[in-house]
Amino acid sequence: MIYIKEFYIRIFGYYDGFMPFYSVLFVLFATIVLFFLFHKTEAYKKFRSLKMYDIIWRWEWRNEKVVSLWCYCPTCGEQLVCDDEYSHSKVLLVNKTTFFICKTCGDIEKGRVVGGNRSYVLKIVKFEISKRVANGNFENEQ
Ligand SMILES: [Zn+2]
Repeated sequence: MIYIKEFYIRIFGYYDGFMPFYSVLFVLFATIVLFFLFHKTEAYKKFRSLKMYDIIWRWEWRNEKVVSLWCYCPTCGEQLVCDDEYSHSKVLLVNKTTFFICKTCGDIEKGRVVGGNRSYVLKIVKFEISKRVANGNFENEQ
């Protein structure tokens, strides 16, 4: 008991009989807060799909990073093929276009992004994912 008193006096400079009780309450409260914080940070890891540019984007989480990000057909669910052959124009931004094509649906264009090539598009989608996670309004869209 004398050690407990000394402990409180060393930290707070005084001691009263309720301090151990408050300490237990504080530890319980801190544990509950940490539990909810932990669950909140983990919740976004269930967010693994989103609809953008009329196509479905899916990815995995490795630690806090988005990995294996790719696009899928909104009709049949197959992986899309990306054609960014026309994304190297240096004249106009609108001339830089990446097309997303579904082979399974019969070489049909499922979406297009104006402004850059596939790595540009992946960066934009990753940015959108981080934005939604930061805002806390994320829900799987497919
Ligand atoms: Zn398809």
